[in-house]
Amino acid sequence: MKILSVNAGSSSLKFQLYEMPEEKVLISGLMEKIGSKDSFYTIKVNGEKVKKEVELKNHAQAFEALVEELKTNNVADSLDEIKGIGHRVVQGGDYFDKTVVIDDEVLSKIEEFSSLAPLHNPAAVTGIKAAFEVFPNAVQTAVFDTAFHQTMPKENYLYAIPMSWYDEYKVRRYGMHGTSHKFVTERMNEILGRCDTKLITCHIGNGASISAVVNGKCINTSMGLTPNAGLIMGTRCGDIDASIIPYIMEKTGMSPKEIDNALNKESGLLSLTGKSNDIRDITAGIESGDENCILAHKIYVKRIVDYIAKYYVEMNGCDAIVFTAGVGENSINTRREVINRLGSLGITLDEEANDVRVEERLISTKDSKTECWIIPTDEELMIARDTLELI
Ligand code: ADP
Repeated sequence: MKILSVNAGSSSLKFQLYEMPEEKVLISGLMEKIGSKDSFYTIKVNGEKVKKEVELKNHAQAFEALVEELKTNNVADSLDEIKGIGHRVVQGGDYFDKTVVIDDEVLSKIEEFSSLAPLHNPAAVTGIKAAFEVFPNAVQTAVFDTAFHQTMPKENYLYAIPMSWYDEYKVRRYGMHGTSHKFVTERMNEILGRCDTKLITCHIGNGASISAVVNGKCINTSMGLTPNAGLIMGTRCGDIDASIIPYIMEKTGMSPKEIDNALNKESGLLSLTGKSNDIRDITAGIESGDENCILAHKIYVKRIVDYIAKYYVEMNGCDAIVFTAGVGENSINTRREVINRLGSLGITLDEEANDVRVEERLISTKDSKTECWIIPTDEELMIARDTLELI
């Protein structure tokens, strides 16, 4: 059975088509600049990558272009071969705690939660509506970034702010990257051969979050109402003193939108190094003795360690720490620096095993009190699996 995994942005569409349950990727790609004259797409099929410049006026045209590619590449003869389409949706509020089949009611709930994710949910709705137009017979599902975190207890999702903000405006911790945390949790439990585990899952990419997972269920996570909480990220500040915001607004006259932009796009590793949000550049900077890069990486690592320590204590121990996403899977020195600071918990790194990129592997020593693993994440596959289960 063919299942399409879709991640729609306001002007982009990322997709991956699977043969399920074999989990074989048939075709994948990214359509960009949808709605502008210079839109284009890149697809990967039969091991080959092709780029095409085609005007895509809207998301429905992007899906139609995909259908054409399926036919010309003999991936599918008719639309009806695609039985399910799973859509990534960032914010499911406190309403969706799992993947659901999309109907009118689900769609209006996703629209309702747009105020909590104004950049993401409207784009997902556009993608869903376009997919219904082009694939009227497929089962469509919504897979929420927030759903995995809905098992958090109230003590971990409530902020100590005026309660009317929670009651009226739903201000609370939701967490993000849930699909990835769920994927690596399931894989880690499979490797350990049991489900009664305590895990700390570190999804560290340009955006980054850490979760505490007990018996397969999330009990805490570092992102909050929005993705700009917890860890220091490529361009996001993560946790800061809330009063910095009114202070700077008063001093500079910046608007809420400008402040939000500065804290999401001009902060984090980018502002600390003064040159890059990319760990590859920062590692090169460290190697050449760049003081800003050395300091930025120290602060970055320290925040990761703070969260691991916090969750270790909260769970009263930990069976495994998992590293995933761009930095977690690739950055040998970031993993080394993090794990080397966990010595007081009896956690020790196997230097040789850690010398690897994007490979599932145990990277702690045999006598380490907690195992440390690299597990490459696959959010698209998780979306396809959830969709298959619902079908
Ligand atoms: P997101 O999905 O949040 O955009 P990713 O999970 O794709 O982020 O991670 C992207 C980040 O991963 C890059 O900004 C870079 O810091 C890091 N990264 C990617 N490849 C490497 C590499 N080979 N070595 C070190 N870091 C890498």
